[in-house]
Amino acid sequence: MPSLVDHVIALTQHRDRDLLDSALVDALMDLLAPQQVTLIGVVSEAGQRYWLPLIQCEQGGTLQVLADPLWVQVQHLQRLEEDTCRQRCLESLQAVDVAPLVDGGACLTLLPLFEDLRAQGQGVIEIRSSEPLSPAALNVLGRLLSVYRNMQGMLDYSECDALTGLLNRKSFDDAFFKVLREDPGEPKGDGLPAGRPERRHTTSAAYWLAMLDVDHFKQVNDVHGHSIGDEVLLLVARLLKTTLRSLDRVFRFGGEEFVVLLRCPDETSALSALERVRANMENYRFPQVGRITVSMGLTAVRQGDSPSVACERADQAVYFAKGHGRNQVRSYEQLIEQGQLQTDDKVGMIELF
Ligand code: GH3
Ligand code: MG
Ligand code: MG
Repeated sequence: MPSLVDHVIALTQHRDRDLLDSALVDALMDLLAPQQVTLIGVVSEAGQRYWLPLIQCEQGGTLQVLADPLWVQVQHLQRLEEDTCRQRCLESLQAVDVAPLVDGGACLTLLPLFEDLRAQGQGVIEIRSSEPLSPAALNVLGRLLSVYRNMQGMLDYSECDALTGLLNRKSFDDAFFKVLREDPGEPKGDGLPAGRPERRHTTSAAYWLAMLDVDHFKQVNDVHGHSIGDEVLLLVARLLKTTLRSLDRVFRFGGEEFVVLLRCPDETSALSALERVRANMENYRFPQVGRITVSMGLTAVRQGDSPSVACERADQAVYFAKGHGRNQVRSYEQLIEQGQLQTDDKVGMIELF
């Protein structure tokens, strides 16, 4: 049977958050031998937070992937306040023990996945056992969680932009291919430990790529100085995060350019999400600077796409918006259909070389 050290090695060999989650559940099943371990994430949409059960393992069973955050339908999930024990654990950032309700019932031990309030990746780990966990078991649990948190911190450091805390350009290609790789509702091999993953709450939505460029940003730097410029970028990032849903991925591509991977059922809803972003930016009063506007370009993520080709299409739509008054959202596909842009084989089709 693998030892604690073997599991620490397994936990530290991954550079992928999904595999890290799986390694944690696997280690807890092995070392604590409980009845069940479940890892539950938190997602938010329109100011409401929901529980998203991600992975579960039962005694004698194999690891089950319960949902893929990329394709989950938030409306079907339990709201945070519908599970008060988990909510207490998450908000107090403390372990919570639930005694069995009936004789012979199971004990629950809940721990927050992180010790601080993070904007992203919050969650709890839930351990079901016939007896309360012993002090020795709690000790092992605490140590494994520390390794898990350290690894998550290292991933944050390498995947996030230092100024805004958004995902950086380096992590974009991986995120893009993850979106392409999986057909909703039709799980494929994803490198997880044995067992065909069962995924619930999936949707048939598609992904869209939006590029956002701040209008006349050079003037902000020239008039107010670079540090006020940096503060504007921080606020633009915050407005983007709060206007979009937690399942939409927001990247800073450098300078005053941002990219969003949006999950929407159709182009109309993707455009209306971006229109909300545009209006929120225009209506926000940036301290010292005042009004800031943004121009955005949208394109559909297509099967066989490459990150650079999709970005090039969105960029063409941004360029068009810049040339036609700025402070607007344009769709590459609509511009092609209307004859306002010409298809370029390099950006309209799969990049071969
Ligand atoms: P347009 O509406 O055509 O986009 O005009 P613009 O002035 O925004 O476009 P341009 O690309 O010419 O200028 C972008 C400027 O962004 C240039 C540079 O001074 C500034 N910039 C790039 N990175 C940073 C950064 O990290 N911090 C700050 N403060 N400014 C930056
Ligand atoms: Mg620019
Ligand atoms: Mg600009």
